[in-house]
Amino acid sequence: MTRGAGLFALQELDLRLTALHGEIARIESELQGDDQLDRLRVEVVQAQADADAALANANAVDHEVSELTRHAKRLEGRLYGGGIGNPSELVMLQRELDTLREKLAVADGELLVVMESAEAADAAVRATEAAVQAREAYREASREPAEQHLIHTRDELGVIQTEREQLAAQIGASDMSLYTRVAGRHHPAVVRLGGDSCGGCHLPLGILEARAVRSGSELIQCSNCDRILAP
Ligand SMILES: [Zn+2]
Repeated sequence: MTRGAGLFALQELDLRLTALHGEIARIESELQGDDQLDRLRVEVVQAQADADAALANANAVDHEVSELTRHAKRLEGRLYGGGIGNPSELVMLQRELDTLREKLAVADGELLVVMESAEAADAAVRATEAAVQAREAYREASREPAEQHLIHTRDELGVIQTEREQLAAQIGASDMSLYTRVAGRHHPAVVRLGGDSCGGCHLPLGILEARAVRSGSELIQCSNCDRILAP
């Protein structure tokens, strides 16, 4: 393996390690909590509060209808009971009763509307509760596969870390520090030749440089972009 190829292989391992670290963090976060489930639970609480308010409203209107009905019955009793002989008093009672019946008609109409709202709010509570249950069931079912995946990913991380240590031990200290320095500025830091050109910036190399990269006699960097070149 040439020095450039060695660094290229090291870079491949580093990329894999970064991906594995990311995957482990993702699975751990997935196992720990669930934003979607949290959101759904908040929706249940909100829906229940809406349903409580709608029910309270329906009860208030229902109470108002009962009161108006009772009041109207009382007036009817006085009006048609025969106890009042004064015609002007009868006219006033009749007017009062008419006004009351109009109010009652309005309140009856309102009662229908608020009862429908209360039923819709109840349905919304049941729907959000069902969504929470479905999400909980999904999480329960996916827990074991996720835990297995986490174990395998950690195993693979260990294997790749060992591979990297072994490879790094074969690479000279100056090559390692060059790789670290270039990797701080370029991703990827090590590129393969594309024909006789730099695989990073695509500028053509000199014939001698390209030959040196292929033979691996020395470590060559692109004179334009500074990347390390591998055959
Ligand atoms: Zn270049």
